[in-house]
Amino acid sequence: MKNHYSTSVALAEAGTAAGPLAGRPDRVRAAVSLPDVATEVWYLETAGAIGAVGWLRVESSAVCGTDVSLYQAGLDWPTVMGHHVVGRITALDPDRALAWGVTVGDLVALEEYLPCQRPDCVECSIPGRYRMCPESDLWKGRRRVGLISSEEGSGLYGGNAEYMQLNANSIVHKLPGDLDPDLASWTQPFANAVDWTVNAGGAGDGSTVVVIGPGYHGIAAVAAARAAGAKRIIAVGRSYERLEIAEALGAVPVVNDGGTDLGALIDTATAGKGTDLILDTVGLGRAVTSAAAGTLRKLGRLVLAGLGPVPVSEVDLKALIRGANTITGVRGRSPEAVRQSIEILASGTSGLELVPTTHVPLEEVGEMLHRLATGRGPSSPHVVIRPQPAQTSQTRNHKQ
Ligand SMILES: [Zn+2]
Ligand SMILES: [Zn+2]
Repeated sequence: MKNHYSTSVALAEAGTAAGPLAGRPDRVRAAVSLPDVATEVWYLETAGAIGAVGWLRVESSAVCGTDVSLYQAGLDWPTVMGHHVVGRITALDPDRALAWGVTVGDLVALEEYLPCQRPDCVECSIPGRYRMCPESDLWKGRRRVGLISSEEGSGLYGGNAEYMQLNANSIVHKLPGDLDPDLASWTQPFANAVDWTVNAGGAGDGSTVVVIGPGYHGIAAVAAARAAGAKRIIAVGRSYERLEIAEALGAVPVVNDGGTDLGALIDTATAGKGTDLILDTVGLGRAVTSAAAGTLRKLGRLVLAGLGPVPVSEVDLKALIRGANTITGVRGRSPEAVRQSIEILASGTSGLELVPTTHVPLEEVGEMLHRLATGRGPSSPHVVIRPQPAQTSQTRNHKQ
């Protein structure tokens, strides 16, 4: 790795260590995913870090469907992947500590966005809209956690490593220091789910909510609907194991065998009363828009969060207007949703502790990504990379 750059900021002291670079590790074990759909564990040097304002000791890096899709499609360059990151700050520039309201030793959740934060940016100039910054967009600038080349600077821009660097434009949220590690690793997907189900979907006290696809985000959406006080939550899916998890969280499981019209399934599950929200995490296209036309209640909403193989479909305009319905596309989460997520997780009422977690050591990241890409992943959708050696030996028994 390159060694000719030096970290330009004075870093706060970590623990009892002294000196301006205290808290910054010298070499870091990292799972580097390669463009030919393989992953190897490398040691990366931190001396070449560009723009690091701090360092994070990664506690967990949860795997989401986006990781699997990107990996499977072939990465553009060697990458330390992992963008649902939780860790402890081991070094931090004092100015950033002040700006972020965190300090060395704090447990934090990191968002994947690295927005440009320029005053002339059409998104960054609007408060709370940083996640839409074109520079950090998954389909545009791609400057985001878990996607930057491992050949750039330290290369430590993703969560699948013992440590990763923090940049001035990192988005950091403080977590309660004693939050259970498996719950903490739900922070970002649960925040997505809260944003899609409650903020975009309008789920609240007494609502009926249909969640299509009890996967990683679908399960989180069941938990979000439950936390919002939904009266009836219906989980529609194909996997019996995942429907069982949704059921444990309070959802009524409905098997979608593909042979029955989705609208008829929802109609039966709601006893003909319809639903206030349909959240599609799969991307069923026409099947879901036509189901929505027949089952959404007045003012009901269809929230589209999944990019499936049938992304374009006809919309029944008459049904949409007569029902005063809303169809919304969603992506990522608002900062407010992250705060809501942390609050619910910290309160111990999310129910997400009922979802089995599969822990993956760095050495097995490649194998797990391969399993997930070929549909042979664990039965529970919560797969979490635990990069610290001590953690993996502790949690090995829980591996599925
Ligand atoms: Zn993700
Ligand atoms: Zn921007």
